[in-house]
Amino acid sequence: MTLTNTRFQDVREWDNAHFIHPWEGMPFLGENERTFVEGGEGIYVTTEAGDRLIDGPAGMWCVQVGYGNTEIAEAMAHQAREMAYFSPFNNANSAPARLAHEIAQRTSGDLNQVFFTTGGSTAVDSAVRFIKFRNNIMDRPEKKIVISRQKAYHGSTYLAASLSGKERDKGWLDQATHLTHFLPNVNPCQRAEGQSIEAFLDEKVADLESAILEIGSDKVAAFIAEPILCSGGVIVPPKGYHKRCLEVCHKHDVLYISDEVVTGFGRLGHWFASEDVFDIVPDIITCAKGMTSGYVPMGACIISDRLVADISGDKAKGATFSNGFTYSGHPVSAAAALKNMEIFERDGILEHVREITPVFESRLKALSDLPLVGDARGQGLLGCVDCAVDAKADDLEQDKNIGAMIDAHCQAQGLILRPIINMCVFSPPLIISETQIHDMYDIIDKSIRMTTDDLV
Ligand code: PLP
Repeated sequence: MTLTNTRFQDVREWDNAHFIHPWEGMPFLGENERTFVEGGEGIYVTTEAGDRLIDGPAGMWCVQVGYGNTEIAEAMAHQAREMAYFSPFNNANSAPARLAHEIAQRTSGDLNQVFFTTGGSTAVDSAVRFIKFRNNIMDRPEKKIVISRQKAYHGSTYLAASLSGKERDKGWLDQATHLTHFLPNVNPCQRAEGQSIEAFLDEKVADLESAILEIGSDKVAAFIAEPILCSGGVIVPPKGYHKRCLEVCHKHDVLYISDEVVTGFGRLGHWFASEDVFDIVPDIITCAKGMTSGYVPMGACIISDRLVADISGDKAKGATFSNGFTYSGHPVSAAAALKNMEIFERDGILEHVREITPVFESRLKALSDLPLVGDARGQGLLGCVDCAVDAKADDLEQDKNIGAMIDAHCQAQGLILRPIINMCVFSPPLIISETQIHDMYDIIDKSIRMTTDDLV
């Protein structure tokens, strides 16, 4: 849709007057100058002013197959015409049933039980509620604490937000602190002076085990971890971290939830990163975002058969898992997800990501040489430039806003990034070509240099 300037001014006013955006900055409520994005094709989006920009973050880490995909749009329209919606509580529909089957085919181990949700937060919430429900049935009602990590992001429901570890987000909202415990930062870049990466890894694994022992394994229900801490600044833990943490968890009868809301559906070149990249089979995987390439909301938690078998049939004690949503397994979302998966396979998108990852990673690494950059890190098609003035300091807590300065220069040259305080993160659509990766990095490189000039 193209808006005329006059109409567009109205829209901006309506947005400011009535739309409370996520993470709304209350001091500026009603005075925002947000960029309106009204169209898109492939890796590009078009603003209301007609500017065409590469979408560095793929929306919000989610538009895997790019914008303007008519096949997904048609699949959704077809499903809406056939059967847009019916209650999933007592009835069924073939689209989500097929999707559950397709997902179960692509997970590892016995991760075969799919519970559909409306997004990532509700997937995390449902995973944790399931675990607590299971412990109640198994006569261990005290086993309820979930261990998370500083800088983690798990969502925005009361429970998922309580499991998120970004200090800046905790200030003004209440937290269910009695249900959670947080482990210290796992960013290898911020390890102690002279500490080897192996020693840092040992320390991080020991942090988890000590926490379980201190709280008591009879009280700790689960450990939740993103394979890569994404919103926390694309923090890649040391090699072997997840495998060793899983071993610690299972040694103490603690379940492992792998939050793959960002990493699932291709971001690291595999359906799920847990097994294929990090060599673990968790007890539960949560996913959302890339599942439908962001075309329509959907999420899921994928639970091990074993966990479900422990509390079903004769062992169920008559219990009902009273958790679910009007739109659990929405047929239109399921149709979008099925088409998305079909496109992934037909077009070899996972293989493509694996092929272009070395180019993405080598251009990312080269940014570390720029004086303003404390650390340039990432994996697969996930990248972050961290311009903390002091790379060892807590980047999320330093209000220099260098990220916004870099992003402004990038936007002027045709690229959107996602600034987070002194960092910029990016995770382009998975269909990005090698040439487009170079285009993106050329702009980032130039924008960081321009920001350096601004700061002197
Ligand atoms: N988990 C992770 C790892 C995320 O990055 C996010 C969102 O960015 C969520 C959960 C929450 O997902 P949603 O915003 O779809 O509720």
